[in-house]
Amino acid sequence: MTVALYWHEKLMWHDTGVLFGPEGQHQWFEPYPHLESSAGKRRVKNLLDASGLIESLQVKRPKPVSDEQIVTVHTEAHLARLDELSSLSRGGEGTVNSTTTPVPPGGLELFRLAAGSAVCSVNDVLSGQNEQAYALVRPPGHHAETERVMGFCYLNNGAIAARHAQQVHGIERIAFVDIDVHHGNGAEEIFRHDPSILTISIHQDRHFPPTTGHVVKAGDEDKNNLNIPLPPASGTAVYQAAFDTVILPALQSFQPQLIIVPCGFDASGHDPLGRMLLNSDDFRWMTRQLKKAAADICDGKLVMLHEGGYAPHLVPFLAHAVFEELCDCQSAVSDPFLKALTSPWAGIILPHQQEYLDNARASLDLLVSG
Ligand SMILES: [Zn+2]
Repeated sequence: MTVALYWHEKLMWHDTGVLFGPEGQHQWFEPYPHLESSAGKRRVKNLLDASGLIESLQVKRPKPVSDEQIVTVHTEAHLARLDELSSLSRGGEGTVNSTTTPVPPGGLELFRLAAGSAVCSVNDVLSGQNEQAYALVRPPGHHAETERVMGFCYLNNGAIAARHAQQVHGIERIAFVDIDVHHGNGAEEIFRHDPSILTISIHQDRHFPPTTGHVVKAGDEDKNNLNIPLPPASGTAVYQAAFDTVILPALQSFQPQLIIVPCGFDASGHDPLGRMLLNSDDFRWMTRQLKKAAADICDGKLVMLHEGGYAPHLVPFLAHAVFEELCDCQSAVSDPFLKALTSPWAGIILPHQQEYLDNARASLDLLVSG
């Protein structure tokens, strides 16, 4: 069964403008292109074309989500605000973090299409048309909360797709495994009180948002969240231990009927917005584990949604490794940065990293016992 790839050229036209300067210090910041741009994502598609791996994928065009689908997870006020800003001839700033997450003219049309890619991916996987699906979209979605834009995200693509899966396909339990280097705060906030959806996020500790993503401790009310914050400079060994001791056991325990992976590539060793050490082999390994878990638990039903990743030279090779795993094939592509990103530091677990892993494991024990 082929893997679906959702792609729409117009999503690459989402215009984020120039990069923000530090708040209040714009007079000393020479304008620079925004880091959330089409560069890395378009190069992913280009490499798939160049390598021929695209022939192993079923490339599909997304349909936009409706107002009704958006308000299953966002408020009417949030949608109205996006609509209002989007209809301004010069666009408008977002509702918070306005300098980082501007709403371009006509932006809502593209936000609908990005979320629609996630919904279509879920439709394909749950209807059995495709075993797995990947939505190669922008803008990303995993920071968007019920009522606010955040971190380059406007609508929570994954959350809208999860609600769609439940309401239209009758799916009960869904697990998110967010591997972006930033905390998947959006799904956590949206589904905080919903035990039918387990949100797992592995991310850099107190990075972005700086105030969320902590491990759940005894007494916390949100026991259906599982956060795995890790210290900066975590690499292969730490991520593999986190998967083996926390993420995979959590999935086995929860027994989801669908796994949604907000897939960011900003935990790589070259990313300007992350401080982790992952390389393409690590993304290959993580995809293999997630695909195997999906095969064991939910008939292979796995949907991956493109999130962050701000090193346009490297992201295509990280993503290509993911697609090779999804398609069960090896191509002639070799990652020219793999050797440079194979650091001895990535292969060991330092005592403070083990402490983080132990805390995350304790939080899983709490979740299972709760
Ligand atoms: Zn990110």
